Formats: sequence, C-alpha cells, structure tokens
Amino acid sequence: MIVANWKMNKGIVQSQQFAEELKAYAEKHKVVNADIVICPPYTSLDVVNKKISGSAIKLGAQNLFYETSGAFTGEVSAGMLKSCGCEYVILGHSERRKHFNETNAIVNKKVLKALDEGLKPIVCIGENLQEHDDKLTEPVIEEQLTKSLAHVSTEDIGNITIAYEPIWAIGTGKNATPHQAESVHNFLRKKIKKMYNENVSKNIRIIYGGSISPDNAKELFASPSVNGGLVGGASLEVESFVKIINSSL
Ligand code: PEP
Repeated sequence: MIVANWKMNKGIVQSQQFAEELKAYAEKHKVVNADIVICPPYTSLDVVNKKISGSAIKLGAQNLFYETSGAFTGEVSAGMLKSCGCEYVILGHSERRKHFNETNAIVNKKVLKALDEGLKPIVCIGENLQEHDDKLTEPVIEEQLTKSLAHVSTEDIGNITIAYEPIWAIGTGKNATPHQAESVHNFLRKKIKKMYNENVSKNIRIIYGGSISPDNAKELFASPSVNGGLVGGASLEVESFVKIINSSL
C-alpha cells in the first residue's frame, strides 16, 4: 500500500493534472498488486475523485471531524468525505497532533467515527526525536496504539492501516533504517496480537512513513513486516511517486 499525503499543497488545476498523469501510469503499467491511495487537501477531493474514477487508484482524506453535522465551523465530517468518494482517511498525523493539539483520545473518536461511516482509517503513530534518543520509542508508540484504537472491535480492525511515522524522519530527509522500521513494526504486531489475536496481527497492514524517496523505498519495503509507505514530500511529483510505487511491486 502506497499512500500519497499531499498535506496543504496543490490547488484544483495541479491536483487534476497529477491525478490524470498517475491514472495514465497505473493503466499503462497495470498496477494491480499495490493499493495506491491519494490524499489531497479537502478542496481537491472531488476533482481528484472524478479524474481517477474507473482506475485502481483510491481516494483518501487527511483528516475528519468526529461529529456527524452541525455547528462546527471549518470542520468536515466522515459523511462529507464519503460523498466525495473517499475510501480512506489519514488520522492522527503527527502534524495534526502537534499543530492542532490532537490527543490520542481525539484520534480515537475520529477512528471510531470513520469506521462507523465505512471509511478506512490510516492511523499514524510515532515517537519524536527526544523520545527516540531516550529509547522511549516502544512505550510511546504502544500508548498511541492502544489509546488510538480503544474500543475498535476485532471485526473492524481489518479496516485499519497503521502508519509508523517516526516524527524525526518526517520531512527531514532522515529516514529510519530498514532494520529500525522492521523492528518497530514487529513490536507493533506483538502488541496487536495481545490486543486482538494472531490472525489480526499477521494480517493488519503496517506501513512506514518518514522521508521515503525513490532512493530508499526499495530497501524500506524489503521487510515482510513493512507493508508499504506513507509518502509526503516525494508524493508531490508524479515522477518520484511512481518510482516509489515501482519499488513496492
Ligand atoms: C508524511 O507526511 O506523513 C511524511 C512521511 O512526510 P515525508 O515523506 O515528507 O517525510
């Protein structure tokens, strides 16, 4: 699974152009072995949806609000995302946790709402540089995992993707080594086995995010425990994004 997180980039025209080019690529190369998900800003969801329709490319949003409707100025609901054609939604991205004070409890409300409305959450967790240096990665991500997934049933967990995104690697050009990513993903699988069962822990998709580029993607995707990538900066150009997709096939 390769997810493009455009963050707050691209207007309508650029979004349409990207979607057209990526669709042409996916059709030409018959990309069926990977789930490719594009997550544009809200304002481009509808136009990207129209451009990718009929292709294997899926649409995701970068956030949602957990209420159904009402007096929540500036917010967007799960139902609204569905009406734009979204299948996925990124939740708990570290930039939302940092700039918008999203706690694990808020992320959990969003996860439960997304599942309720039939969206598939891509739940982001990861430690910051200080925590990494203090060797606190495991307790930090364990807390994020258990709290963000509180009350998610065994039935619903199959619709969740976990994105392990060490914060020190996001947008910094410093990626985790394949060994680091693999060992954290294995740790997460062990915890998920305890929370659910062995089958869930084997089958849940855990993707890595943090400065993935055409140069490091193949190595990062080589571990069987790493089921794909969440790509920020390198997903803004079709050429680099396509190279990353190719590295996963
Ligand atoms: C991200 O936005 O989730 C991300 C991993 O960004 P980048 O690839 O730019 O580090």
